[in-house]
Amino acid sequence: MKIFCIGRNYTEHAKELNNPLPSEPLVFMKPPTALVVNNKPFFYPDFSSDLHYEGEIVLRICKNGRSVQPEFAARYYDAVAFGIDFTARDVQDKLKQKGHPWEIAKAFDRSAPLSAFVPLDQLENPAAIRFQMKKNGQVVQDGNTRDLIFTFDTLIVHLSKYFTLQKGDYVFTGTPAGVGPVQVGDVLEGFIEDKHLITCAIK
Ligand code: ZN
Repeated sequence: MKIFCIGRNYTEHAKELNNPLPSEPLVFMKPPTALVVNNKPFFYPDFSSDLHYEGEIVLRICKNGRSVQPEFAARYYDAVAFGIDFTARDVQDKLKQKGHPWEIAKAFDRSAPLSAFVPLDQLENPAAIRFQMKKNGQVVQDGNTRDLIFTFDTLIVHLSKYFTLQKGDYVFTGTPAGVGPVQVGDVLEGFIEDKHLITCAIK
């Protein structure tokens, strides 16, 4: 299975990191060994001293496909989860300066805690999904998928030009503004439409 991730997909987040807005989706991947499920803790890695959370809506791919046409894109995902795209920001900044790939800053072991999935038809508004990240009980990210630069359907079309989508793949669709560092002892919680979906303690 593949875990696709999209960078800079919310205008306010691109601005907070002083990144230009992308003209097409910025794609990277994480391996299956990045996943953390069942609310297991996250262990702060020893290669970073500026580890950031990024709370994201994650799509579940439900059908194999390649070169998907826009009018059929919505058939290829059926559920969403709350995911955390942990990023070693200090490592990433060094890689970006050199123009190198981001993998070791983004795709390391356990860098992708993921909640259970909620079927799209159980959401109040699948076209405008509200989601929140809390850190130690305080809201730090408050997003809505209506603010995506590239919609879910656009991402499906784009990804499937280059990669065969396979049932069981995931797509981290990007983080809204409010990313920030975590310390050992912090607790992150993710909510979709006020439903508590994930707890992630930093150990
Ligand atoms: Zn991200």
